[in-house]
Amino acid sequence: MQSLDEHLEAALRRVEQAARLRVLRPAGLRANGRVEREGRTLLDFSSNDYLGLATHPVLTERAREWTARHGTGSGASRLVTGTSEEVLALEAKVAAFKGTQAALVFASGWQANAAAIPALLSALPGAAVFCDRLNHASMHAGLAIAGARQHRFRHNDLDHLEDLLATKGAEAPARVILTESVFSMDGDVADLRRLVQVARAHGAFLFVDEAHATGVLGPGGAGLSATVPGGVDVVMGTFSKALGGFGAYVAGSRALIDWLTNVASGFVFSTALPPGVLGAVDAALDVVPAMNSERAHLTALADRLRAGLARLGLDHGTSATQIVPAVIGAEADAMALAAALEERGFLAAAIRPPTVPPGTSRLRLALRATHTEADVDAVIEGISACR
Ligand code: PMP
Repeated sequence: MQSLDEHLEAALRRVEQAARLRVLRPAGLRANGRVEREGRTLLDFSSNDYLGLATHPVLTERAREWTARHGTGSGASRLVTGTSEEVLALEAKVAAFKGTQAALVFASGWQANAAAIPALLSALPGAAVFCDRLNHASMHAGLAIAGARQHRFRHNDLDHLEDLLATKGAEAPARVILTESVFSMDGDVADLRRLVQVARAHGAFLFVDEAHATGVLGPGGAGLSATVPGGVDVVMGTFSKALGGFGAYVAGSRALIDWLTNVASGFVFSTALPPGVLGAVDAALDVVPAMNSERAHLTALADRLRAGLARLGLDHGTSATQIVPAVIGAEADAMALAAALEERGFLAAAIRPPTVPPGTSRLRLALRATHTEADVDAVIEGISACR
C-alpha cells in the first residue's frame, strides 16, 4: 500500500510534468510599493493595494489602537460570544459607504463568496444560476457548495446572458445572475446598468462581486454598484485590496443580512476577524471616500500603461481599470518574461491557466496610486527590453 506522501508526491509530479507546479517564494513587503526578494528591491506591479493604504499611518495606528484595546484575537464566532459595538458601527459604516440598508463582515473575500452564495441559494430552493464564465474561483466554490444549477454566459456578453435567460431555467422558482463588476485578471468592467435592466426584465436577482472596484471606482470609491439607480440585490467586496487590510463584506437589504447572519456557514462557524484587522478597515473607510485625486491618478496611470503596451504591440485586452494585462499567450513565454523583468527590478507576476484560459497567459499589471508616471514608463521600457 502506498503511503499518503507517496500519493501526494505522485500527484505533485503530474502537476510538475504539466509545467504547472507553483512554489512559494520568499518576499518581504516594504512601504511605497516595493518588495524585497532574494536581496533585490522590486517595484511591485502585482499587489492589489491599489490606493497604497496597507502602510498608511491612519490605518496602522488604528490597527494598533484596536489591538491594544481588545487584544490580538476575537476568540469565537460573533454569534457565540457577542459582537462589539465597534464592529456593529463598522458594518453600519460599510452599509453607508455602499448605500445599502445593512452589511455583514466576513473573514475574507473567498470566504464571503463561498458562504454567502450557498446561503442565498438556500433561501431560493431550485433556483437557476447564470454566471459570467470568468467569475472568480470563490464564486464557483460557493456554487459548488450549493450544488446549484448553473448556466455560464460568455464573458461580459449580455446578449448571450439574455439568450440563456430566455431559454433556460424558466420553470425555476427563482433565477440569480452572478458577476464581478471589475474582473480580476482582465481589468474590464461589467455593464451593471444593463445587467440590472436584464435582471429586472427576466425576474432575476443580481449578485455582484466588487473585490477590485471597492475603493477605486464609483462615487467616493463606493464601487460600481453605487452608480446604478436602486443598486443591486447583493453586493460583496473585500477589504484586502484597495482598502489595504483584510476581510470582506456583503451588503444589501436588512433581510439579506439577517438571513446571512443565520445561515452563512463561513460566518456562523468562523471566528470573527481580529480587532487589529477590523481597526484598519474602520480607518480605511474614513480615508477612502476623500481619495479622489488618488483615484484620478490611478486612471491616468492605467491609460499611460495601456498606451505604452499598445506601442509595443502588446494586447491589453478589454482593460478599463487599474488592472492591465499584457497578454503574452504561451505559459512558458509569460513565465520567462516575468523572470526577466524580475532581473531588472520589477515584480510583474505571470498569470497562467487554470487562473486564466489556456493560450492567454499574461503579465497581470496592477497599478497603485503610489506609482509615478516614471514607474509606469520604467516597466514599459523593461517589458520592451525583455521581449
Ligand atoms: N473575488 C474576487 C473577484 C477576487 O479577485 C478575490 C481575490 N483574488 C476574491 C474574491 C477573494 O478575496 P480575498 O482575497 O479577500 O479572499
